[in-house]
This record gives sequence, structure tokens and C-alpha cells, in this order.
Amino acid sequence: MSAPLISISDLHKSYGDINVLKGIDLDIARGEVVVIIGPSGSGKSTFLRCCNGLEKAQQGNIRICGQWLLKDGTELADSSLNELRRQVGMVFQSFNLFPHMSILGNVAVGPRKILNAPKDESEKQAVELLEKVGLSEKADVYPASLSGGQKQRVAIARALSMQPEVMLFDEPTSALDPELVGEVLQVMKTLAKEGMTMMVVTHEMSFARDVADTLVVMEDGKIVEAGPAQTIFSNPQHSRTKVLLQNL
Ligand code: ADP
Ligand code: MG
Repeated sequence: MSAPLISISDLHKSYGDINVLKGIDLDIARGEVVVIIGPSGSGKSTFLRCCNGLEKAQQGNIRICGQWLLKDGTELADSSLNELRRQVGMVFQSFNLFPHMSILGNVAVGPRKILNAPKDESEKQAVELLEKVGLSEKADVYPASLSGGQKQRVAIARALSMQPEVMLFDEPTSALDPELVGEVLQVMKTLAKEGMTMMVVTHEMSFARDVADTLVVMEDGKIVEAGPAQTIFSNPQHSRTKVLLQNL
């Protein structure tokens, strides 16, 4: 067995007096798709944000791609943190596209500004990525003219432009009208099939059923159940899991 691509142990995070993460342990293999479910406020977003250094945890260890993001509660120095962030792409519920840039510009700007890629190379890659998410015909328009589903597909292409090793998705379809959810999930499915390592917080259980290797159930800052998704779907053990799966 090769070492996990992501290894998290004893992760604790609090905001002031409020303990939000109370000891998270999780190993993720290269190519694994982990779907995280849990009630609102259980710490799912905080957990993902700790995994790409957007939030500083106070205790524990996070190792990604052989690098310690957090070791015994001490975070990487900022310079190395930026380096590591490039390997961890993140897609949020709100798309956060740059409104003053064309779609192509949105997907080309990261490699240009952060990786110092030449203009023609970054644009060539952006064109390929827009093709991949089914939006090549929108390259020259601005975000305001896109639907939510299209914006989210651009956000995925933009995250991919940094050629990450891992993609984190925090409720990527929660802000979308129901009829636009499918096109975003389809792009995510394709990514998963291509072998991308993914951590996905979502309420879309059909996606979880189809795509997840591992299901993680969070409650009150802890993982209360985790394991092969199909096993948990067919035979949930924890009461919280039973409730969550019942409400489908
Ligand atoms: P989830 O994504 O599962 O809904 P979150 O990770 O967003 O949960 O939040 C977990 C808990 O942490 C909640 O009680 C929330 O109020 C609290 N929390 C999240 N972010 C902050 C913050 N920046 N400051 C204080 N409390 C926060
Ligand atoms: Mg959240």
C-alpha cells in the first residue's frame, strides 16, 4: 500500500471558546473520492478550509502530498503554505469569479499571475479547461451573463488551472436552481472518473451513491461514521447517519 495522499489526525479547531473540530482523523488515498455529509454547523466547511490552509487549526496534523500543512498544531510557514495551496483546489458554494475578467481570463489568470506561465500557454490551457467543462463557446463573455451552473463550471475550471493534486468542494451545488445542479455534478463525475482525488461536502445523495468511494458523516465537530460508501448506504450504523439517509 502506498502512503495516503492526505493524512489527517487529531485535528482540533476552535473559534475562541467554541470548539468546532474535536479530533478528526482521516486518511485519503490518491484517486479516492470522499463525500462528507452532516447537519448544518457540524464543522464540514471548517474541516475543508483547514485542509487547504484557509483556517488555522490549533492541534493535530495534516499531511498532503508528502508535505506537513500542520504538524503537532504548528502550521507551515506562509511561503510554503502558498506552494501547498496550489496543490489543493477549492470550489465554494458561491462562485467568486472575477467580474471584470472574461471567462477565459478567469481561468487563465491563476497560472499567469501565480505560476508566471506565459500568456499563450495559460490561455491555451484555459481553452482546454473550458472545453472540459463544456463552456468553450463562452470564453469571451463576462461572468454576469452566465447562469449559476455555468459560473460554477467556470469556477471548477479555474481551480483546475493550477493543476491541483486534490480538489475540495464545499456544497458546490447548494446555491443553484435545481435544474442547474446536474450539469455541475456531471463535471465533478468526470473529474472523479479521471482519477482526481476529491473531498466533497454535499447534500446530493445520488452523486454520493454514484461517485463516492468513502462516505464520512460528521456531527458536532467529529466524524461519527466513515467507510466504504456502498456499505454505509446499505447498512448505516450511527443514528445520525440513519437520520441523514432517511431524509433522502
Ligand atoms: P458546516 O459547514 O457543517 O455547516 P461550519 O464549519 O460552517 O459547519 O461551522 C461549524 C461551527 O463553527 C458553527 O457552529 C459555526 O457557527 C462556527 N463557525 C464557523 N466559522 C466561524 C467563524 N469564522 N467564527 C466563529 N465561529 C465560526
Ligand atoms: Mg458549510
